[in-house]
Amino acid sequence: MATPDFDVIILGGGAGGVAAAVRAAQFGGRVAVVEDKFLGGLCMNQGCVPFGHMMAASRILGSLALGKEMGIECPGIARDFPALMKRQAELVTFMRQGVQGLLNKNKISLINGRGKLAGPGRVEAGGETFSAGKIILAAGAEWVKPDLPGGDLPGVVNSDYLLTTQNLPERCLLVGSGPMIIEIAQFLQRYGTKTWLATPEIGLLLRESKVVRSRLTKALQAQGIHLLDRAEIRSLKQTKDGLQVMLRAREKEESISADILIALRRKAALTGLGLGSVGLDEKGEYLQVNAHMETGVQGLFAIGDMAAPEERHYSHLASSGGIVAAENAMGVKSSLNLRVASRVIFTQPQVACVGLTVREAREAGYDAISGAAPLSMNPLGMILAQNEGIVEVVAEKKYGEILGVHIIGEGASEMAGMGVLAIQMEATLEELARAVFPHPTLSESLAEAARDALGRPIYLP
Ligand SMILES: Cc1cc2nc3c(=O)[nH]c(=O)nc-3n(C[C@H](O)[C@H](O)[C@H](O)COP(=O)(O)OP(=O)(O)OC[C@H]3O[C@@H](n4cnc5c(N)ncnc54)[C@H](O)[C@@H]3O)c2cc1C
Repeated sequence: MATPDFDVIILGGGAGGVAAAVRAAQFGGRVAVVEDKFLGGLCMNQGCVPFGHMMAASRILGSLALGKEMGIECPGIARDFPALMKRQAELVTFMRQGVQGLLNKNKISLINGRGKLAGPGRVEAGGETFSAGKIILAAGAEWVKPDLPGGDLPGVVNSDYLLTTQNLPERCLLVGSGPMIIEIAQFLQRYGTKTWLATPEIGLLLRESKVVRSRLTKALQAQGIHLLDRAEIRSLKQTKDGLQVMLRAREKEESISADILIALRRKAALTGLGLGSVGLDEKGEYLQVNAHMETGVQGLFAIGDMAAPEERHYSHLASSGGIVAAENAMGVKSSLNLRVASRVIFTQPQVACVGLTVREAREAGYDAISGAAPLSMNPLGMILAQNEGIVEVVAEKKYGEILGVHIIGEGASEMAGMGVLAIQMEATLEELARAVFPHPTLSESLAEAARDALGRPIYLP
């Protein structure tokens, strides 16, 4: 049999594809990445990095009130959106060059152009057909028109709008209840936009622990974001004054005039990938894979947003899945552990959750217990006025194995990493309770929450 052109071809050079390519190259594989836009994909170009940058700016604005309490006065604060976007563009360009450098260093070939499968072990891209021992699909997801009456009006946009507009809207209605829409609502509100956040559900982040949800809801309302739950958009009209929206929220009719409506629905980008040539269906919501990222077609793997439901569209899952797919493609068995998939919202207060809530643990058959430590009782939490912050730990009762960690407050996204490690290493409440965390840090509350679950908190009243 002829040697294939490459050991592994990866279709898509985003968060998942790049991690897969580097990992496959580390085994000495001859690797190619096919990319038709920008290396780094959605995450680096239109997602985590630009919006992470915008949320960092928003956090600085949100910290000014505490600064004022500490005697730091910043009169005449400017919110220069073009300056923010200029820094952002430089950052993204710099990071893209970094990805190109990674490919070069690992001798990974980059094929520019739109790629598609052309039968088992074959990829068409840039006008040529290449053969490969293994193929990893990493094409991400694409925007889907929101399911609203008037969803195709020009004023109905997605997050890309904020990356190209010169001026932020004066009034914005956001529709949804997931992490990114909540982040954007806070960013806009902090930059002076009148902001409504409408969700058809009974509240935000329905999957998450009740204490985290209710504290986040209260904080966002206190910051001036108008939250509308159980909301149903009845009609949308484009007028010369923007969008005229009629909606019903909690049985009450509301009429809202907004410049734009932002909705963020995405689904796996399956169309035009030649899936039919290997017997796969391009009509589904996403490609089904097992824990090794295998599609069921010999030698074909799928990772990231194209192989997950929308609630699992996270960059860290795409890159971890990419590493797993590359290892299996190169003959090393490994699996993606979804038990440690963290869910993070970079608002202020931040939210970060990993593993099961008490309700989920009980539904899964565990005899679950939990403990909590408010950040308002933590010395650094008091210094930083973390009144809405709390750390909650969920475990099974018999051995104390940690099943979930749920945090709201400053530093939640960093502390969640410890939760990931605890669950991955099957740590127990006893081990977390005895962990000697540095003082004064918010992480001390992780140990206190574990001690609370064991019935022996030291600092709680
Ligand atoms: C506003 C926003 C903010 C976000 N913030 C975060 C965050 O803070 N943290 C987080 O974890 N996640 C975040 N995400 C989600 C994250 O960006 C995605 O989960 C992640 O990028 C998925 O990685 P991927 O490799 O599967 O796909 P992508 O990163 O989308 O990469 C897919 C790549 O494939 C290319 N491609 C597609 N089809 C073809 C083809 N036929 N031929 C050649 N190339 C092709 C595309 O051009 C793209 O570069 C955010 C998303 C959005 C929309």
